[in-house]
Amino acid sequence: MGDIFGNLQSSLRLIDLLDIGIVAFIVYRVLLLIKGTRAMQMLTGLGILGIGFFISSTMELFTTHWLLSYFFDYLILIVIVLFQDDLRRALTHVGKNPFFSGASAEEEREMVDEVAKAAIRLARERVGALIVIERETGLKNFIDTGSRLESRVKCELIYAIFVPTSPIHDGAIILTGGRIAAAGCFLPLSKDPNIDKRYGTRHRAAFGMTEDTDAVVVLVSEEAGQAHLITGGKITTNLREQELRQSLAVLLNLAESQTTLPKRLRGWIASMGQKRASRENKRNGGR
Ligand code: ATP
Ligand code: MG
Repeated sequence: MGDIFGNLQSSLRLIDLLDIGIVAFIVYRVLLLIKGTRAMQMLTGLGILGIGFFISSTMELFTTHWLLSYFFDYLILIVIVLFQDDLRRALTHVGKNPFFSGASAEEEREMVDEVAKAAIRLARERVGALIVIERETGLKNFIDTGSRLESRVKCELIYAIFVPTSPIHDGAIILTGGRIAAAGCFLPLSKDPNIDKRYGTRHRAAFGMTEDTDAVVVLVSEEAGQAHLITGGKITTNLREQELRQSLAVLLNLAESQTTLPKRLRGWIASMGQKRASRENKRNGGR
């Protein structure tokens, strides 16, 4: 045993540690990216087939092993086809500057105000709407399904988009970097069989979008005449304007004291603060 460690120590170079670190980081980021998505279920499926392959080999189940070995010969192709959406998303993510989102806190706070105002006005008039706000996950592939706007976020504009006479009232608007990137966007519908049967396709689209990405969705139900907030596949119903504004500010890391820093930096500072607080809490024995 000592020999093994001795050999390992003498042959392990600093660069190998760096190599291992990079691979561990990539695996960790990939798992974070697909956690809770359909890709995770597919990966679990592949894992089960991998175990089957190993068992068929050790138990000498020749036919099963032959069949599975054909499958694994094409593994790279299969992975590319199965995970094409996630790979596209991951690659967009890698190219993104981690500390810059394009919008200042002031612009984002103004965006939150205008969205909350518009949602409540639309709800009062029973006009249905879907407003998607981008966070970490890039939404370019969803923006591409709609009509490009690239305009400032204004209550009147959001209202004008969703009134039934507007040619782009169907679908969702997507907000990125404090601006309306596009309207009339098509969102993925959730396949969750447990969604309340009262909810129709607008709600299913909001659930689907927030299950697949970390976006925040404001939904106005034309049937209920209410504004809802959906994130991470969870819905908070019937919010008042002030509640909507506050919830959006929390979800977008717009705490009062951090007005001038870019969004990613603020998020990072907030998470660092939480980690330090929990470390200190542990050190103090949770007192
Ligand atoms: P509401 O409570 O407002 O009636 P709902 O959940 O019952 O909402 P529907 O009545 O089916 O939903 O709403 C249909 C509208 O939802 C469509 O006209 C369209 O604007 C929007 N919608 C439906 N599917 C999608 C989708 N996949 N992506 C974006 N918008 C969608
Ligand atoms: Mg309906």
